Amino acid sequence: MTEETRREPDWLPGAVQLDRPSVARIYDYLLGGYHNFEIDRRTADRFAALFPDLVLTAQVNRAFLRRAASFVVAQGIDQFIDLGSGIPTVGNLHEVVQGHNADSHVVYVDIEPVAIAHSEALLGDNPRAAAILADVRRPSDILDHPTTKALIDFSRPVGLFAVALMHSITDEDEARRVIGTFKDALPPGSYLTIGVWTTDDAPRDVMEKYAEMSQVLTTPGRPRERAAVLRYFEGFDLVEPGLVHSPAWRPDGPDDLLFDEPQRSVTWVGVAHKP
Ligand code: SAM
Repeated sequence: MTEETRREPDWLPGAVQLDRPSVARIYDYLLGGYHNFEIDRRTADRFAALFPDLVLTAQVNRAFLRRAASFVVAQGIDQFIDLGSGIPTVGNLHEVVQGHNADSHVVYVDIEPVAIAHSEALLGDNPRAAAILADVRRPSDILDHPTTKALIDFSRPVGLFAVALMHSITDEDEARRVIGTFKDALPPGSYLTIGVWTTDDAPRDVMEKYAEMSQVLTTPGRPRERAAVLRYFEGFDLVEPGLVHSPAWRPDGPDDLLFDEPQRSVTWVGVAHKP
């Protein structure tokens, strides 16, 4: 254990695992945040040595989340659940949607205690947004949670977000069961936003090595092929432009990162409507 991890900062929540790197804290580091530890930074640097686009992929993923949130709130949705929401950074879902409609309700969910502690600190006394420490692999812990019940009315359409999350559920049957349970809980008129890390556009040996290295994480990852990601949307209607690489999903303009090389994002993303 390093000097830094021994000297636990006062914002450190109790259940945090400091002996293993966490996706949430690595992602925070890649986006320029400060809520990460040396073990996270060292792991991120090892990943980046293998895959130099790593920081770029985090940035374009976050930009997609913001564009998708703006789109969904513009459809009249005013209640949101953000699964695998991560450590708060610029352009959090509640900032985007409450910026459009101040009455929007948001429930953040993450398995990483640092993410939830900081979400709670950021939300402060925001009465319309809250964060839950939970494992999405147990959907009922989230759907039946008193916070969810207080903020989300399941008789009205909901915006469900699972961005950069599904690859963290390594077992494909479990991933389909989990997303299926959340989809079933959504009433007609709801929107589902998913983004998943893929092997389809990167050299296979690099991505296989990357997936192998990810075993050290508190939540290891397994990338998915396009067909598998498409199945997560079954029964829903993908809105234009369909399932695409994140920079190609309704870009703001040609100045967007990776506008001309969207495949370098190594993600498949989509937004779909429940009929
Ligand atoms: N959704 C945000 C975004 O796209 O900007 C953050 C993505 S971050 C790469 C993935 C998040 O999923 C991490 O914060 C991680 O802790 C969380 N996560 C991974 N497995 C999870 C699980 N089983 N339950 C809840 N959260 C999980």
